[in-house]
Amino acid sequence: MKGRMLSAQEILDERIWPRVTKGEGCWFWQGSRDPEGYGQVKIKQLANRPLRVHRLVYELLNGLLLPGMRVCHSCDIPPCMRPDHLWPGTGWENTRDAQVKGRVRMVVHTLKQPRQRRMTDALIEQLQRMYATGSWSCCGLAREMGFSPRYVQQVIRGERPLRRVVVA
Ligand SMILES: [Zn+2]
Repeated sequence: MKGRMLSAQEILDERIWPRVTKGEGCWFWQGSRDPEGYGQVKIKQLANRPLRVHRLVYELLNGLLLPGMRVCHSCDIPPCMRPDHLWPGTGWENTRDAQVKGRVRMVVHTLKQPRQRRMTDALIEQLQRMYATGSWSCCGLAREMGFSPRYVQQVIRGERPLRRVVVA
């Protein structure tokens, strides 16, 4: 199969899914991981460098993402490959850019110091306001505010915060 073009389905079936444990919850990647814990795989036909598997899975199933877009985990588990746990967010650069341009004028900096933070009504309101400006993705907000992306998603959807989340 050397040199042959692979279809998305073949890449998934031959190179990805055999190394994933599929279960009721998250689907875990059993292959190698990068230092941040994300699954990585080298597929000669696609690239000379290792690719992040969760992004590859997302793109094989949904099409290529625009540059700057990243694939987030709703479950917060880097080696998870379950397609419905993966969702695209805009990159950190976009968020920064929006912030620098002053489109987002919030008290982000005063909230930044502590690593451990409790979600308050005021904070929920703020997250929703920031998200409503359209300048922030869930991922970006999560990073900026020190919460997990899944938690931010829940808050923005108006779902009751289920737990307090601490991001180191
Ligand atoms: Zn998952």
